[in-house]
Amino acid sequence: MSININELSTAKLDFNYWQDIIKNIKHNLDQIIDNKHMSKILKYDIDIEFVFDDLGSEEKFGPNACAKYIDTENNKYQIVLGRKLLTVLRHFSFKVIDYDDIFPKIPRTEINREKLSKLSDTIFYLWVDFICLHEWFHIVRGHLNYGHENLNKNFQIDEFSKNKYFDDNEINLYLEIDADRFAGKVLTGRFSLMQESLAVMLNLNEEDMVEGFSIFMIYLFDLFFLLSDNSRGKVHPSPSERMVFLIAAMQEAIHTNPKLFNLTEEKFLSLTETALKKHYKKHEEEYILNAKDILITMKTLDTYTKIIKDIKLNDYQILKEL
Ligand SMILES: [Zn+2]
Repeated sequence: MSININELSTAKLDFNYWQDIIKNIKHNLDQIIDNKHMSKILKYDIDIEFVFDDLGSEEKFGPNACAKYIDTENNKYQIVLGRKLLTVLRHFSFKVIDYDDIFPKIPRTEINREKLSKLSDTIFYLWVDFICLHEWFHIVRGHLNYGHENLNKNFQIDEFSKNKYFDDNEINLYLEIDADRFAGKVLTGRFSLMQESLAVMLNLNEEDMVEGFSIFMIYLFDLFFLLSDNSRGKVHPSPSERMVFLIAAMQEAIHTNPKLFNLTEEKFLSLTETALKKHYKKHEEEYILNAKDILITMKTLDTYTKIIKDIKLNDYQILKEL
């Protein structure tokens, strides 16, 4: 895959540029996570501070995002997004719009440059929304409370390095899948709200939009694997399984709310699955996939359900219900 992390993370963008981006990210977050009505959906009040790590205190080992407790007695948490991570995402969003499998119907001509640049912005913000939601679900699904009570009182979740508080990396990975699952569901709803106007701008239909959404989210996961500590990728679930779970989360969103798109559930399923298959086909050499993978994924799903039950995650969950 032609993603060069070094190249993506070293390109410089100036200070004012980031000020605007942070403002937009916070604005999006306020839209997605409606803090005014939070008390209705949470079992008790919590306080989540959103921090942009401009000094790199959380990024000593490379691009990172994390979720942590800052005051256990007062239920205060923090979500930290690193500057290096945002830089990588921003540059990758510039690159990805030139990939031939991203909205392939848009001619890559000079006249379309402005549209493509807007598309790049949209992709970037959806990626960041996904990461923020993923961190938010680490908190409200009780992952931090679980780790704090059972593993270590300084427990925190770092996205791209091996979690030192787990003896067994397996639970860690299933918590990642859990955060992906719920973030993926919410993001699918968010995308459904904006896809119509985006489709008009790009002169595409709804099917193109759903397939495109699936593909650029899959690319985000490609990026995650490149950013991750390699030792993690060797533990189940594998990178491709995590992608399958993301697609499953999108399908779950449509199953729960069939009105999100003007497509039948079957059509939606087939579009997302086609996107995944096309992506695998294109990057065959990087994902050594075969029929066995499907079976492993089914097993992973069972294991996920079992582990979430075994660790009694519902007892730690701060959300009232899902
Ligand atoms: Zn995570």
